[in-house]
Amino acid sequence: MEKIRYERPLIVKMNTGLMNKFGTKTENEPVTHIESVGVKTLLKQYGSPLFVISEKQIRRNYQNAVRIFKTRYPKVQFAWSYKTNYMNAVCRIFHQEGSWAEVVSGFEYDKAIGNGVPGNKIIFNGPDKKDEDLIKASKNNSLIHIDHYDELYSLIRLSEEHNLKPRVAIRVNMDTGIYPKWDRFGFNFENGQAWNALTRILNSENLNLVGIHCHIGTFMLSPNAYAIAARNLSELAWSVKERFGKVIEYIDLGGGFPSTNTLKGAYLPGTDTVPSIDQFADAITDVILGYGFKQNELPLLILETGRALIDDAGYLLGSVIATKRLSDGRRATIMDFGLNSLFTSLWYEHKISPAQKLGNQTEEMVMFGPLCMNIDIVRESITMPILQKGDQVVVHKVGAYNMTQWMQFITLRPNIVLIDNDNETHVIRKAESLEYIEQLEEIPKHLK
Ligand SMILES: *Cc1c(COP(=O)(O)O)cnc(C)c1O
Repeated sequence: MEKIRYERPLIVKMNTGLMNKFGTKTENEPVTHIESVGVKTLLKQYGSPLFVISEKQIRRNYQNAVRIFKTRYPKVQFAWSYKTNYMNAVCRIFHQEGSWAEVVSGFEYDKAIGNGVPGNKIIFNGPDKKDEDLIKASKNNSLIHIDHYDELYSLIRLSEEHNLKPRVAIRVNMDTGIYPKWDRFGFNFENGQAWNALTRILNSENLNLVGIHCHIGTFMLSPNAYAIAARNLSELAWSVKERFGKVIEYIDLGGGFPSTNTLKGAYLPGTDTVPSIDQFADAITDVILGYGFKQNELPLLILETGRALIDDAGYLLGSVIATKRLSDGRRATIMDFGLNSLFTSLWYEHKISPAQKLGNQTEEMVMFGPLCMNIDIVRESITMPILQKGDQVVVHKVGAYNMTQWMQFITLRPNIVLIDNDNETHVIRKAESLEYIEQLEEIPKHLK
């Protein structure tokens, strides 16, 4: 018989089956399957921790968003935001569904080309485009979204030197009533910078102005902010037509729709407070349709939605390494994943479910990651059934920004598994090894 480990007795308030402050049950319902694949089976086969992505959920999210916009507006195109999750398998699902690519660096640009995206369906954003990136993107007929005057001047110079006719848009920033303002990217609307940049492009020999872009922020909770953005971009497009006779082919409203995660410090869970994509779509399309564009000059509406399409398709499975009592008596549970793999625990209170049936007693606990770093906290306070060493959990809605912002500080990155439409599992990125991490290191001769 296995000896039960002794734990010093301590008197604490226990909650049994109580409602939490939202009037819902605490997070103690076990989640044993993802799609129809057993969580325990996944962990046994691929190790712990483990990222799992549902292909079905990605496709559902994408098709749903496209339907919502297309039923309101005739010309809609989504472009997958690579930085949100650039696993090639993930990008290819979006491209198969018809999504273009939206990239913010030369490296991401090359990834999109490698994933078979035609050059003219790649949107190139961001403040850091190298000369060679600009030349390549121009030759490939990609959509170059100019971020600042220095880039504009570079592009004019390069287009003359290399005889290029780049297709360009400008990124516009503006006051949408959301603070702090995102005014570090693009040209400002209110102070006339955006109009000035457009005029310079229209007066240049080689640049072909095709669109106007903005990305007003991320995890935006206000549909009205998008209505303001849509109005300002429509105004610019309208003025370009009026004064230069040039029809703007597209208006790109960027990304930023929230996922249903719960922001830290929010009083209510994200599932109750986050506006639906329908509300954002209404706000945007009402403005553009009502602006007065001629039917045949109605701009294509581009969206670069990232997190709202992928967050709930991603899960992180993990195991309890140990439990302990902190000096103030609080229960602490130490997991085998932390900030290194779950970067978004910095701003979300991720929902975490046990992967097996546990006792009915729940207790408030702090959930730590495995790193030797004081800020490695997964949840500062979570009420769960009491977890023991070896128990396993499912972290929900981790598909966005984790598999691109993770780091190998102290531990290596784990496997990522895709569950396809037929519930077959595929490793889409292997767990890292020491050899992989060291392959770029060199040892000087005198240290060999
Ligand atoms: C990050 C980013 C996106 C995607 O943002 P989400 O908030 O994930 O929807 C879209 N466009 C640009 C320019 C971005 O930088």
